[in-house]
Amino acid sequence: MSSRATDAPAPPAGRAAGLTQADAERRLARYGRNEVPPPPPTPLHRRILAQLRDPLILVLLGAALLTIAIGDHPDAVVIALVVVVNTTVGVAQEVRADRAVAALSALSAPHARVLRDGAPREVPTALVVPGDTLLLGEGDIVAADAALSEASALLVDEAMLTGESEPVARAVGEPVRAGTVVVRGRGVATATATGPDSSFGRIAALLDGDREPTPLQRRLAALGRVLAAATLALCVLFFALGLLRGLAAGTLAVTAISLAVAAVPESLPAVVTLALALGARRMAARGALVRRLPAVETLGSVGVLATDKTGTLTEGRMVVQHVWTPEGGADLSGTGYEPHGRLLRDGRQPTPQEARPVRELLMAAALCNDASLRPPADRTGDWTPVGDPMEAALLAAAAKARCPSRPELDRLCPRFAEAPFDPLRKRMTTLHHLPDGNVLVCLKGAPETVLDPLVLDAGPDLLDHARSRARTLALQGFRVLAVAGAERLWQPLPATEAERGLRLLGLVAISDPPKPSATATLAACRAAGITPVMITGDHPATARAIAVRTGVIDDGPDGKVLTGPDLATTPAVGLTAARVFARTDPQQKLDIVRAWRARGAVTAMTGDGVNDGPALRQADIGVAMGARGTEVARQAADLVLTDDELSTVVTAVEEGRRVYGNIRRFLVYALAGGTAEILVMLTGPLLALPLPLRAGQILWINLLTHGLTGVAMGAEPAAPAAMRRPPRPPDQHILAAGVWQRLLALAAAVTAVSFLAGTAARAVGLPWQSVLFLALLAAQLGVALGLRDRLLTRANLFLPASVAGSALLGAAALYAPALRSLLDTEPVGRSGAWLASAAGLAAFVCARLLRGAFHRKARS
Ligand code: ADP
Ligand code: MG
Repeated sequence: MSSRATDAPAPPAGRAAGLTQADAERRLARYGRNEVPPPPPTPLHRRILAQLRDPLILVLLGAALLTIAIGDHPDAVVIALVVVVNTTVGVAQEVRADRAVAALSALSAPHARVLRDGAPREVPTALVVPGDTLLLGEGDIVAADAALSEASALLVDEAMLTGESEPVARAVGEPVRAGTVVVRGRGVATATATGPDSSFGRIAALLDGDREPTPLQRRLAALGRVLAAATLALCVLFFALGLLRGLAAGTLAVTAISLAVAAVPESLPAVVTLALALGARRMAARGALVRRLPAVETLGSVGVLATDKTGTLTEGRMVVQHVWTPEGGADLSGTGYEPHGRLLRDGRQPTPQEARPVRELLMAAALCNDASLRPPADRTGDWTPVGDPMEAALLAAAAKARCPSRPELDRLCPRFAEAPFDPLRKRMTTLHHLPDGNVLVCLKGAPETVLDPLVLDAGPDLLDHARSRARTLALQGFRVLAVAGAERLWQPLPATEAERGLRLLGLVAISDPPKPSATATLAACRAAGITPVMITGDHPATARAIAVRTGVIDDGPDGKVLTGPDLATTPAVGLTAARVFARTDPQQKLDIVRAWRARGAVTAMTGDGVNDGPALRQADIGVAMGARGTEVARQAADLVLTDDELSTVVTAVEEGRRVYGNIRRFLVYALAGGTAEILVMLTGPLLALPLPLRAGQILWINLLTHGLTGVAMGAEPAAPAAMRRPPRPPDQHILAAGVWQRLLALAAAVTAVSFLAGTAARAVGLPWQSVLFLALLAAQLGVALGLRDRLLTRANLFLPASVAGSALLGAAALYAPALRSLLDTEPVGRSGAWLASAAGLAAFVCARLLRGAFHRKARS
């Protein structure tokens, strides 16, 4: 077996230096990128055709032909204009959304470690070329088909390719395949095939399906069909009533079609896609990379946040504070990972006699250890851990006890076998050659798995005493580790054979204080109706102490802690009753997610280990740490936190709620306006009046309301109260919770105020149809402003600007001669303008009042 590298990626002398950067670039040009070729971009004419195939647009094109046939050229021009604008806006939004999605996937693309110019370097997996030297470590995804030139206890999970769930051992000379996962150990391999030539490329090409619409998009498409049918029925009614009143069939047909087009929010799919894509982009800017578009809307309804403890709620900066041995203990001074400090007993330096057992324990802990300490890069920097922070803390402690340094220990007592740490066994054993030819066994692990008569050669009194010490230290919030050892004449392999008859060396108490920000983050979760749950492999007493300090639970009898062994006997409903889980293994994370999901809660779960993949995938929102997490965890996750901060999940939830809220607001606005347009038009034939509006006028209103103003609503800031409300139930209909009542009320209000303005104009002899036209537009724009959460916010100036622009274009329809002849309008004078403005103001006030009533009801 190769000698173990202390600082993982550094290549030992004599090993290949990898490719040069220049060579790698040449090879990239020759072999192509290491990815499945993305589908070619959709050509523009295809996108345009797709827009024109929309049934509504087809109907509108039919109407254009009809207007030409009956000689109504102005309306033909307006219809053509609407088709052009609609198609342009649709195509532009689609392109923008596609770009946002592409930018996202580039941000969360996988990375690989390779040797370039003799130094380890992290590169995007897509840039790995045949001949590259791949450095493989726990949690890495193999970037290309490759041949192993070095392997140390290398275990690879090939489930992705073969479906085989048992990891397989891989040795020097054997191949490792692209897309498989390093579960344990380390290796170095030379890439042989990349991209579509590699095993993963062949499989990925098979897996690559169409991009599926999100649940929200699907639900909205269904809603759209219902709306289209209802609108068509109403327009047919309008047509029939008009015929009964003896109006010209041709004009009626064109008007009915225009009405249908105006009333249906045809820009809805575009607005939704764009809102989701923009939401994802805003999340990325705030440190939350969304890996799938549907996650944006799912985030808004997250109800449970299951989080790790170590490194997520705690700082993950570990320091050994106290060592206990059966012969007496010692405290350690010093901060961080700096290997300087002193042993203290009762505040004084211990005698050599007293220090000996402590040193012996820390020496074993330093041998049974895969970490190393990196000195500060400059004068002001800190010592940093390489590898497991807890193991690094043990090295720092050993240095404080004046134990030999890590390289020296490796030379004195070289390791020849090991049983690595795994979260199921919760312990680790290493075997070393001693200078005198004997074998040294070193074991460290969770106290329960070490303080066991099967492992230790110790009497019940000593075991009981050690257990009670371990519990006391855990209750104080320390992470506690037990260390044991033995010297033997010989030792049969495997290393697990050595885990018996050992001598207890003692306990180590490691502090890992909660992050100062954790308490605030969890409080924000609670305020937003999100239940925080903590899951850890640590001791229940340690878990409880941290959970109480960060506010996951109260320090009362209700704050129960379930442990892994309890879980096996607890029914699924019981799982959702607990808030803290300790001594769990990764499989149990999966059980906890399943239990919450079975209860209907949308569940987000953090994870970063090799074994966390299944739980991350099972969770509605799997959350991985961008810096600290493994590549497997990142690729299994829906959300990657670039800053490794739990609070970023809360930020992402807020953005998710904002997106959903904005889509809902757009629906209320667009559907209320469309309904009002139909109601206004129906009153004409019903009251035996001439047609209130001409086809072109209806379409003009449609352009100005659904166009820019509608899109601008998708960019509204989050409501101040968005994070003080409980999450929306995931299966709630988009028009539920009072939305459709609000929509109908607003439609009635817009109809009433427009009609009042029209009637008043008629009474004083103004061109009442033109006043009605202007009033209907003003009322809808009034609603757009009235529905805002923060009326005077400067966060989305696009909305007030587009409302102002639409109002101007509305006025231009009456005053610009070209438009006037096209739309067949007349100037309405100052009093007409006043009437229309009054209608707009009245609609605005109605929207504000309704909004207030709506929120009061939601709160109670
Ligand atoms: P978590 O990271 O959630 O605290 P882990 O699964 O990493 O939990 O660890 C569970 C327990 O296993 C720890 O509380 C500790 O007692 C023990 N342990 C962790 N890492 C090691 C290690 N490298 N060697 C030996 N024991 C360990
Ligand atoms: Mg851990």
